[in-house]
Amino acid sequence: MSPIERIPFTCTLDCGSRCELVAVVEDGRLVRIDTPPREDSPERPRLIPCVRGRAHRALVNARERVGTPLKRIGPRGSGRFAPIPWEEALDEIAGRLQELATRQAHRALLHITGAGAISGRGFSGASASHRFFSFWGPVTVTVGNMSNHCAGVAAQWMLGGQVPSSDRATLLDARLILLWGNNPAETHMAPNTAHFIAGARDRGARVILIDPRYTDSAILADEWVPIRPGTDAALAAAMAYVMETEGLVDRAFLETHTLGYAPYRDYLLGARDGQPKTPQWAEAITGVSAETTTRLAREYATVKPACLLPGWGPQRTLYGEQAARAFITLACMSGNVGLRGGGVASVGMRGGPSLAGLPRGPWGPARSLSAVSWAAEVLAGRVRPPLEMAYIVASNVINRTPNTLANIAALERIGYVVVHDPYLTPTALYADLVLPIRTDLERTDLVTSWGHDQHLFYSAQAISPPDEAQTDYWIFSRLAERLGFGRAYTQGRDEATWVDALLAQTAFDREALKREGLLRWEGEPRVELADFRADPQAHPLDTPSGRIELANPQATLYGLPIVAEYVPIAPPAGGRYPLQLITPHSEVRSNSCLAANPWLQEVEPQEIWINRLDAEARGISPRDWVEVTSPTGTVRVRAKVTERIMPGVVCLPEGAWFRPGADGVDEGGCANVLTSLQTTPTGGVATHTAWVEVKRSAR
Ligand code: SF4
Repeated sequence: MSPIERIPFTCTLDCGSRCELVAVVEDGRLVRIDTPPREDSPERPRLIPCVRGRAHRALVNARERVGTPLKRIGPRGSGRFAPIPWEEALDEIAGRLQELATRQAHRALLHITGAGAISGRGFSGASASHRFFSFWGPVTVTVGNMSNHCAGVAAQWMLGGQVPSSDRATLLDARLILLWGNNPAETHMAPNTAHFIAGARDRGARVILIDPRYTDSAILADEWVPIRPGTDAALAAAMAYVMETEGLVDRAFLETHTLGYAPYRDYLLGARDGQPKTPQWAEAITGVSAETTTRLAREYATVKPACLLPGWGPQRTLYGEQAARAFITLACMSGNVGLRGGGVASVGMRGGPSLAGLPRGPWGPARSLSAVSWAAEVLAGRVRPPLEMAYIVASNVINRTPNTLANIAALERIGYVVVHDPYLTPTALYADLVLPIRTDLERTDLVTSWGHDQHLFYSAQAISPPDEAQTDYWIFSRLAERLGFGRAYTQGRDEATWVDALLAQTAFDREALKREGLLRWEGEPRVELADFRADPQAHPLDTPSGRIELANPQATLYGLPIVAEYVPIAPPAGGRYPLQLITPHSEVRSNSCLAANPWLQEVEPQEIWINRLDAEARGISPRDWVEVTSPTGTVRVRAKVTERIMPGVVCLPEGAWFRPGADGVDEGGCANVLTSLQTTPTGGVATHTAWVEVKRSAR
């Protein structure tokens, strides 16, 4: 009997964390997923993986796995494909690319990458494909941040850019934590966030969850404050009003570290519109009682350090810029900026270790389309010259982008579509060629932290891929050879030799990295903006004044107020869609990754959350089939009747795969069937602004 091997690998699901896992392999077979036996300490725990990472075994063998190149033989979306040899598939793609290149029509190719499929960091996914097209020619790309665009805009305007966030370990020093639209128990943005919040609570901190849903993160909290989606800036304004009128504002901090409070103060007091932003004013908007808002404001203003830890949901609404700006404004008013255990509520990226990626070739993109609303451009005929080919790598784009049906229609307008993916995703079903890709466990890669830590992972190949699955790098190397720039693309290297070449440029201990699978840099936990707080003259921000700017004239260019005012969102006219829909991330998927993992879908079946009062008004009982309809489409799912969501709001977690039934209605529970292509004023995704009606369905 051959020995059991324990091989470290990295979970690269696009969740906001990176965790270390161990593949337990016997006779080449994956028999278990384990975690490394590391020492724990309260401030430096292991990178504790979640249920998604631990379920890798079912993902590797998923029913939807693709093992050989597939060529479409039926209508797009029909799922009718025939296997073809690699050589034939690569020759066909190279021929298409050569034909475009001969006509100097590179820009007629749309290259899409991004979240939504499994992607490594060194040689997989976007890294390999962007390098390829940078040698091939100037193509069309999609650009934009589907995750935290508005938080990034707020940070740019107010802080001069993203500032490195506090280490999550500093949460242990907080005495109050506002989890505002943040769900770390399920979404795991940054490893061990929930662990540190629980630790803070053990040390006496109070934790308050502000969210339309009583999420699993409520287990970390002392109190749940339900709030209507898209009204966060109103709650923040009312809290700020209480702080201002009760003399609870940290004026010393505002005077020495910020600029532009006066117009926000005028807004709070109603100097311009005659409406003071009282808790009573906010109650009608937010659904949060005036008493609760007043208490929240007093607590946040007087308990120090207090950490306002927002998630990205509030800024994924139609005026998400305002929520993100309001959070920073509140943090300044309470004087919690630069304090260990406090926080300025910024985007919160720390930046990973310095490691060069694959170098790029001479060509940049010829033009770019919005990653959120590219389909609208295509369907309106505004992309000139029109697109003739789409090359989609590591992206289940029709699932992950608002308005799935529009994305399908746009893809159908494009003559030839290639998809790289380990799975036959809904997007792959609309491809002409699907190329099978290896998963985390089946390739060697270098992986850096997602953004909150400074770790470097070496993810070793643990098992053989099924059938003929290959890496993105392998595919592009062979295409480059066919197109005459193979040597330039590979520099004569395969993945393993690239790993060594990239590491040779660093001082990292290569052998230790390969042996352990992980190098961690964690000294004294970093405190965001501590230097700036201590001496703003010596450590100015990258804003015009060097201070935190609470008034932003550039906002007016986008039709937004100069300060973090609440901007109302009107429901569609006619009253046909009375319920607000939110589409948060799920604990069992990472975007649309893992929808193919049967173990996880059993953990949390896809259902629409609806409050008991809303359900009773519609004659809906628990587990009934219902149709959820918005102006963009209809989804048929089961109802989860629950008190864990506030009345007037329903929730369908994003990421479940689009699976139309015989009548064309989606039965997979794909949330983006219901969301629109409308963007925020600065171009951010607004998927948490959607309006629907729910009715019982016969199925
Ligand atoms: S999905 Fe995210 S939190 Fe879960 S194991 Fe993977 S990297 Fe870690």
